[in-house]
Amino acid sequence: MPQVKNERPLVYLDHSATTPVDPRVAETVRDTLLNQWGNPSSRYKVGNDAKLVLETARERVAALINADPANVFFTSGGTEADNTTIFGVMRHAKANGRGNHLITTQIEHSAILKSAEKLETEGIRVTYLPVLSSGAVDLDALKNVISDDTVLVSVMHVNNEVGTIQPIEEIASICEAKNAYFHTDAVQSYGKVPIDVKNSGIKLLSASSHKIYGPKGVGFLYIHPDVELDSLVYGGGQEKQVRTGTENMPGIAGFGHAALLCAEEFEKETEELRKLRDDFFLQIKEKVSGEVILNGSMENRLHSNLNLQFPGVEAESLLLALDLDNIAVSTGSACSSGSTSPSHVLLAMGLNEHQAHASIRLSLGRSNTAEGLEYAAERIAYHVNRLREMAW
Ligand SMILES: *Cc1c(COP(=O)(O)O)cnc(C)c1O
Repeated sequence: MPQVKNERPLVYLDHSATTPVDPRVAETVRDTLLNQWGNPSSRYKVGNDAKLVLETARERVAALINADPANVFFTSGGTEADNTTIFGVMRHAKANGRGNHLITTQIEHSAILKSAEKLETEGIRVTYLPVLSSGAVDLDALKNVISDDTVLVSVMHVNNEVGTIQPIEEIASICEAKNAYFHTDAVQSYGKVPIDVKNSGIKLLSASSHKIYGPKGVGFLYIHPDVELDSLVYGGGQEKQVRTGTENMPGIAGFGHAALLCAEEFEKETEELRKLRDDFFLQIKEKVSGEVILNGSMENRLHSNLNLQFPGVEAESLLLALDLDNIAVSTGSACSSGSTSPSHVLLAMGLNEHQAHASIRLSLGRSNTAEGLEYAAERIAYHVNRLREMAW
């Protein structure tokens, strides 16, 4: 007897968590591993060849944000870029008597939030800005708390759960007026939303490869030349001391190729995904009996994100049921030892715990097709309707 298994191909709706590596990028990673194994710091041919690979990748990742490649520093990912900013800038300022106040928001990724919490134990003052129900940061709150003591303001460009696009140019100009550095965690927007560091007042920016179809374990931090910071890692001096250690060459080359593909396919991909996402949302609303609520505003939203609340449905049960249908979604809840705590982002937007626990995130990407999404909409509706009937 053949084994009974789900023959449906995977419908992956969690591109904000990670993306499948583009096969073209995987080829570059493989080629770099096998053929460009030299140390880019060595001064003979194989080293020089590797150096060329490194600098080509730097040019490619910098081009997507219109940065001078000299201001781009490779890291082990978005988490390290965020940590380097928060700790590196604040500790340097504190040690040099340049201020002691950090401003961030309640909806940041844990790479920022946990770093900020750690700094509080070192005596640094931190303000966590609230957000509006749309998911947008409260700019009045920022204007009220920013002061001469403020060293750094860190606001993510696009939120990973609700896809809200923050008004980073406005935030940057508020920071400029107070002489505070502006950092943006652009991990969710990099390669998807236009960014120009030369015309936006951004002083630091974090990006990650595995959110744009590149390999995991590599990212970068853009640092404007005016910014002073301490590095977190000490050693041989690679990446101009900002992030020393022999470079992750296969990862960096892959990241460069992934960025190049984003640059080439950006407009076409954005349009296609927006259309797929909008059709998908319509189908879900049509097929689900009862309420479907979109969390966050539709206007200032990443083209590939939906965050939907199905009142009365336990999102965790929905996630598990969909997994059996080979459909991958996320709830945004933090899971620790069997119990889940509701999403801090949804709570900050004013949802209560029940509403947050009834919400799922659907993030589309290059792996999705109209056919797959039709199937997903049908299964989501089937399970939502079924779970609601059970709840009564
Ligand atoms: C994924 C993510 C990170 C962490 O990046 P890694 O490369 O996985 O360390 C940071 N910030 C945001 C907004 C993210 O989505």
